[in-house]
Amino acid sequence: MTASYSRNQACRLSHVPGWDLETDVVVVGFGAAGACASLEAVQAGAKVTLFEVTAGSGGTSAMSGGEMYVGGSGGTPIQRSAGFHDDTEDLYQYLLMAGGPNADADKVRAYADNSLGHFEWLQAQGVKYKNSFIPQRIVEPSTDDCLIWSGSEEAWPFVEQAKPCPRGHTPQWLGMGGGKYLMDVLAQRVDAAGVDVRYNARVLALIADDDGRVHGVVVKLDGRDCFVRARRGVILCAGGFVMNRDMVRRHAPHLLRSQHPIGTVDDGSGILLGQSVGGAAINMNEGFVTLPWYPPESLIKGIFVNERGQRFINEDCYHGRVSQHIIQQAGNRIFLLQDHETYAEPEFGKFSNITIAAAGETWAEVEKDLDLPQGSLLATVELYNRYAQEGTDPLFHKGAKWLKPLTTPPFVALDCRIDICFYSHFTLGGLDTLPTGEVLNADRQPVPGLYAAGRTACGLPRWGAGYSSGMSLADATYFGRQAGLRAASTAPVV
Ligand SMILES: Cc1cc2nc3c(=O)[nH]c(=O)nc-3n(C[C@H](O)[C@H](O)[C@H](O)COP(=O)(O)OP(=O)(O)OC[C@H]3O[C@@H](n4cnc5c(N)ncnc54)[C@H](O)[C@@H]3O)c2cc1C
Repeated sequence: MTASYSRNQACRLSHVPGWDLETDVVVVGFGAAGACASLEAVQAGAKVTLFEVTAGSGGTSAMSGGEMYVGGSGGTPIQRSAGFHDDTEDLYQYLLMAGGPNADADKVRAYADNSLGHFEWLQAQGVKYKNSFIPQRIVEPSTDDCLIWSGSEEAWPFVEQAKPCPRGHTPQWLGMGGGKYLMDVLAQRVDAAGVDVRYNARVLALIADDDGRVHGVVVKLDGRDCFVRARRGVILCAGGFVMNRDMVRRHAPHLLRSQHPIGTVDDGSGILLGQSVGGAAINMNEGFVTLPWYPPESLIKGIFVNERGQRFINEDCYHGRVSQHIIQQAGNRIFLLQDHETYAEPEFGKFSNITIAAAGETWAEVEKDLDLPQGSLLATVELYNRYAQEGTDPLFHKGAKWLKPLTTPPFVALDCRIDICFYSHFTLGGLDTLPTGEVLNADRQPVPGLYAAGRTACGLPRWGAGYSSGMSLADATYFGRQAGLRAASTAPVV
């Protein structure tokens, strides 16, 4: 009788019929985290075998914008050329706030102290960055430019805790989607470094002894279940769980309000494999949600209202933070109000399905067309305009630079309905790990022989309301490297 292996249940070491392959470090998944883990482990002298379920490298990392959140230590050369000095403590404070109520201060400290060095490491691998800065608020450069404001650095409440600095670094790649370029460069390095890469290789289960130590993996290779021994450790870099709708329903049901999961495999297998040997999964309710409603940045001068005609956020925050607040509103109807001076067609309007819901010569007409409770929208706009005239926003603390009374007709309400527009999401919860990548159990004790990084782990980005573009790749690449280093330096089990 042939056994069937499951990511939910580890194969016991005593049941292994014999090793088909022996190596020092097994890496599961060839996205950004897996590439960086493999590189560091192999360069530290370990024999590394990387299993990737698809036919090529890249994962979700290759479909991303390639933007990396870096700074501190005075700033990257690109930040400094653009006139910014980025203090490590400001990066630390910002990341700590961005991590939300359950931020991991140890990881934040490690990353803030070493972010500049990590950027240099990426450049040493061959990733190119142009020395240029786009000051306008955008989502991602459509040119080959590099530095952008990619978070809520200038917005309340972040601006009160950390001196703002742009930290989104996009590789020198013409057009959006620089993640493919980033991954191609890293994949070439992985090949050149001598990592044994196996494609079309799905890791089915972990192999553990009765004390819970991980010794290897069961992997489907050429249609056969193969037993692979990892003498120094297994590093799970298999992405998140956004495509596993059962898991999303169970752990983060509010994300289902946004109808568009984004990712590639992301079926939760990394997290489930970790849990099968006692690894603890944390922050599983958190995710990143967004509707790219700007650029152009003039739209930031408008105001968002819910179906009660009420504001709920300072609109100068990062689009993801605004969207996170949007999906917390009761009801699906969300409107972005603009006047004649602030209105411009949303650059991603067609893609995002943002249309005009109502227009009028007075706000009363717009309110009526939107069928909002009588007087609700008028009261909101009147209050906003009164304070904007004075350059303040006592309700939500929008920055003075974005405050303009919406008083020039015609007026327009853009339709940003949750159930119609392109709100996309991916998950931020994952295995609890130390900054070294060691996977922790529920008592926060390391599971021997097991490491995780990228969206399989719960890293720096762990709060939808604090996420900033570039944080996921920064986390995946930096902490992937740490996991590779730690696994390679562990004494082999013989
Ligand atoms: C459209 C889009 C744009 C984005 N833009 C940015 C951005 O600019 N900056 C940023 O920081 N973040 C961005 N993100 C988020 C970011 O891309 C991901 O969170 C990040 O790439 C995750 O990296 P990873 O290495 O953890 O996973 P992945 O890159 O997904 O790699 C996981 C790999 O594991 C493989 N795998 C899965 N299960 C198994 C198994 N059982 N056996 C073997 N292999 C397996 C998968 O096939 C995959 O190749 C974006 C995401 C999307 C969808």
